[in-house]
Amino acid sequence: MFSCWLSRLCRGLSTPTGRVTHLIQGSLSRRLMLSSQRIPELSSFVARTNTCGELRSSHLGQEVTLCGWIQYRRQNIFLVLRDFHGLVQVVIPQDESAASVKKILCEAPMESVVQVSGTVISRPPGQENPKMPTGEIEIKVKSAQLLNTCKKLPFEIKDFVKKTEALRLQYRYLDLRSFQMQYNLRLRSRMVMKMREYLCNLHGFVDIETPTLFKRTPGGAKEFVIPSREPGKFYCLPQSPQQFKQLLMVGGLDRYFQVARCYRDEGSRPDRQPEFTQIDIEMSFVDQIGIRSLIEGLLQYSWPSDKDPVVVPFPSMTFAEALASYGTDKPDTRFGMKIVDISDVFRNTKVGFLQDALSKPQGTVKAICISEGAKYLKRKDIESLRKLAADHFNQEVLPVFPKANRNWNSPVAKSIMEEQRSELIRLMEIQEDGVVLLTAGEHRKACSVLGKLRLECADLLEARGLVLRDPALFSFLWVVDFPLFLPKEENPGELESAHHPFTAPHPSDIHLLHTEPKQVRSQHYDLVLNGNEIGGGSIRIHDAELQRYILATLLKEDVKLLSHLLQALDFGAPPHGGIALGLDRLICLVTGAPSIRDVIAFPKSFRGHDLMSNAPDSLPPEELKPYHIQVSWPADSEAEKSSLNQPYHPES
Ligand code: ASP
Repeated sequence: MFSCWLSRLCRGLSTPTGRVTHLIQGSLSRRLMLSSQRIPELSSFVARTNTCGELRSSHLGQEVTLCGWIQYRRQNIFLVLRDFHGLVQVVIPQDESAASVKKILCEAPMESVVQVSGTVISRPPGQENPKMPTGEIEIKVKSAQLLNTCKKLPFEIKDFVKKTEALRLQYRYLDLRSFQMQYNLRLRSRMVMKMREYLCNLHGFVDIETPTLFKRTPGGAKEFVIPSREPGKFYCLPQSPQQFKQLLMVGGLDRYFQVARCYRDEGSRPDRQPEFTQIDIEMSFVDQIGIRSLIEGLLQYSWPSDKDPVVVPFPSMTFAEALASYGTDKPDTRFGMKIVDISDVFRNTKVGFLQDALSKPQGTVKAICISEGAKYLKRKDIESLRKLAADHFNQEVLPVFPKANRNWNSPVAKSIMEEQRSELIRLMEIQEDGVVLLTAGEHRKACSVLGKLRLECADLLEARGLVLRDPALFSFLWVVDFPLFLPKEENPGELESAHHPFTAPHPSDIHLLHTEPKQVRSQHYDLVLNGNEIGGGSIRIHDAELQRYILATLLKEDVKLLSHLLQALDFGAPPHGGIALGLDRLICLVTGAPSIRDVIAFPKSFRGHDLMSNAPDSLPPEELKPYHIQVSWPADSEAEKSSLNQPYHPES
């Protein structure tokens, strides 16, 4: 495991990091070729001559100085030294004359930091370690210095040692020493560097920082509130630089980008962080195709060299098709098991809940087919799928085994007639051992439940050893033609923006804005990778009147809060559009990390806490005074109040 991460890290660091493929002119071209092919100098300006991980037989005889942490010691003869780049074996001198060196290296506790100087020698024949990239050599030490000792650690710094996430987050600075975290963060840095290179050097984008102290704005996610010294006045942390980047277009900075920190107070969600990073982009005089090509080129250019290259252009799918075939707006297209409308097969059904659904005007019957389901799924699996559908979607799901004759004596399944069974087999191309999961109801609801079950089935089958989603495959997809508005969740009679209120309507649907706004499609596009939304954007409204109408009349928002933007649109705003890529999620998928917290140096816990420093933390009343704030403690929070000056206990 370790050697696999290490070799990937080393390969990534020591191979040229990609090639400039675009035609660029003159000296810029030469500079770029140089910068993109250069192997970074890893030991400039510091006490070491080399990294622990880089030494090979080609270094034999060289005098080197290394700095690192003590990873292992064996019989007071060998020491394994570690830095971010890898491990190297150091031979502890045994002769009397080097007694002081031996003492340092034998007495320093594990994870102490040492500096050693010596000669690179080859290991005696038969003692090479082919699993270690530096396994052919060792260091014959002449001098050593203990730079700092290490006390007893809360966990061992070895990737294979299991630790809870809470403990990792509490001691994040130790967790960062793991090769896995080193790999993730260094890969992230390299990809961002390549993105900057692509955007700024190849395509003339300007990197502009926008404020993080902003104000409340309508629509979108919930914002974090920041008190100010003016009574009753608050800043907000921006959920994205959306308004600023549009204003930059009005200001003539017509190709903007930023590695932007965004903040959303959305409570705890497993795959979200209250603060996260976007590659935020905006351009003037651009259409959807322009933005899509830019992003395809950006990902292709910044893609790690140790992965299969990105193939462009990415396929695209309309929102309607994504919902109908995959039950979601972020389909995982690495595997089939698509949703099929089988309403016509069941027009004369005797099965009650199907009959019921089809008697309604919007009623449908839908199904997915799990190939080899009868072979790999157990009865309890199917039952748990049905329970999930019932508990979370209030939907009935019927399992049918059209060819395997294993209906578990279900009376409902038995009432499926022979011609319905054979029509189902034909329509869904069902093979031996195929299991059909069937549900009925309104189109969107039936698709949503089957979309969820499709993913659950893939998990179940993969847990049984089938490979449905090749882990080496990166399946990008554009989802387009979203509706401009959706019914508000809490009040379906009202509308909310499907993306955000600045998204332009689809040109062919503008005439419906005044009559049937729900039918209007938008110029919003999402980028999906392996079933995860990794980016989204839109062509914007640049006409102040249209923007005002959408905000005030259709979305019922207070336009005064956006008067600065509306005014700017009135002062010759160019047509513009943009996109933001969710950097954390993208890197998480590229590295195959189990959570976005594994690609963020100092993430918040699941509950939004910093377990290392104990943020958010309480403040004594006198510190709140300048902000005109008083805490109104909930009745049961005596403990909280008295914890103001207590030592901190992390989440378990
Ligand atoms: N600001 C948008 C978001 O954060 C992205 C965009 O429309 O460019 O989702």
